[in-house]
Amino acid sequence: MPSSKSQWSLTERRRFLRSVWSGVGASVSLALLPGRELLAAPKVGANPFTLGIASGDPTDDGIVLWTRLAPVPSEPESLGQSVIPVRWRVAKDAGMHQVMASGIAAAHPALAHSVHVEVRGLRPAQDYFYQFSVRGEESAIGHFRTAPREHEMLRELRFAFVTCQDWPSGYYTAYRDMLRSDLDLVLHLGDYTYEYRIDGTSRRGSSVPAGFEAETIDLRTYRLRHTLYKLDADLQAAHAKFPFAVIWDDHEVANDYSGSAPEFAAPSPEFLARRAAAYQAYYEHMPIRFAAASKPRAELRIYRGLRYGRLAEFFMLDDRQYRSDNPCGDGEALRCDAANNGDYTMLGREQERWLARRFERSHARWNVIGQQLLMAELEHATTQPNWYWNDAWDGYPLARKRLLQEVVGSKLANPVVLTGDWHSTFVNDLKVDFKDPNAATVATEFVTPAITTGGDGTPYGPYYSPMIPFNPHIKYYEGDRRGYFNATVTEKYMRFDLRFVTSVESPGGTGYAERSWVVEGGRAGAQPA
Ligand code: FE
Ligand code: CA
Repeated sequence: MPSSKSQWSLTERRRFLRSVWSGVGASVSLALLPGRELLAAPKVGANPFTLGIASGDPTDDGIVLWTRLAPVPSEPESLGQSVIPVRWRVAKDAGMHQVMASGIAAAHPALAHSVHVEVRGLRPAQDYFYQFSVRGEESAIGHFRTAPREHEMLRELRFAFVTCQDWPSGYYTAYRDMLRSDLDLVLHLGDYTYEYRIDGTSRRGSSVPAGFEAETIDLRTYRLRHTLYKLDADLQAAHAKFPFAVIWDDHEVANDYSGSAPEFAAPSPEFLARRAAAYQAYYEHMPIRFAAASKPRAELRIYRGLRYGRLAEFFMLDDRQYRSDNPCGDGEALRCDAANNGDYTMLGREQERWLARRFERSHARWNVIGQQLLMAELEHATTQPNWYWNDAWDGYPLARKRLLQEVVGSKLANPVVLTGDWHSTFVNDLKVDFKDPNAATVATEFVTPAITTGGDGTPYGPYYSPMIPFNPHIKYYEGDRRGYFNATVTEKYMRFDLRFVTSVESPGGTGYAERSWVVEGGRAGAQPA
């Protein structure tokens, strides 16, 4: 029976102790903590599992389990400075009788009493159930499935991909709909939380609970924002049922920032301090491993790969943290001369090199790039020729060309790009040169609609729809409805099922199938299914 206790290597201990992320580090083993602190742990009081539980980043032998103790959700510091031992168990059955792994993890005050357990020693391609307990209080029981062994060809892999779940924009109807499926994984492509002040205009028909209104600017307010979102019952249910692989976009920090530069401003130490607080709160609330490559107080490395045997490999990217400030300025603008300077980067050189190496080494039948920003060109031709939205890859055309040339040069098998951010649905052919009508399609892009952002109604269609005919590589566009994609991967094809929801502004909304596409192995480009 593997236990987290025995698995903390010296490197991991050093990593934690060295970490100056105000105490952010790899999961804290009890062995690291003075016993006196544990004995002094206060009573936790009422249900400490108000924020639910989650699992994430499955491997062929492991998983990350997450929870955060929050008996008083509006008071992130209510548990004081004590380290609190939390018991965890992983079982083969939903009744938690056949326990396969268990241990004690520490909920540390420096990490807002969050718990991250990096479980190893599990079997590949198996269903597991998990539960936390503290002082006799038990959490809900969660479920996850491990990935298959490295050389295994899985018969079928099913996952959903989602983005943009602004809380005041509406209910998480999409997550409730998703619960009807049997999924191996949910990819969250960013805008998990939004930074804005929440006033009385919530489209949920009720006002925000007291204490959660403030704009997020520091560690306390970022923690409160994550807390508010995690209190949602539909989001909790999705996390309990499926493992997630999450990456952030801009709003987990602040709108349209680039690296160390906030929107419409130069890089500043003040913004970097805000970003560090946001990154810490993100780590505290997500089922992710703490990467050793993270740089204390400056960088939290979240780009990473996930393998599903020989069937699929996922490359989860970070389009925000390392990118250059927009060469042609923020927002919409004419493409400027600076866009032809190859020094500008979206991923940063280190992430670009990492991705190129992973491309070269991949033996997967399907190579899925999960990332934030629209990769296909979208010339705003109806506004003005050569006019682009600079926050997306259109603001970094040479960085995009480098990435797509790497896809071609490495002979990456069946590349598919999954994108969030736009609050719209797109299906696109990706080309090294979008202006060349004879250019080959080198990859297929699916942009998933928002879970809620924008609410019900028609916020984007009227503006963008007239531009689409001027961009013939865009095969489908819909800007007015909310929802998500389900994907099915087999050796022969990948299938994409677009699901919209009837409403995010009334609590009784439901999901429905809109349409489906298939990408056949060996042939880039989506076909109607
Ligand atoms: Fe968004
Ligand atoms: Ca965004």
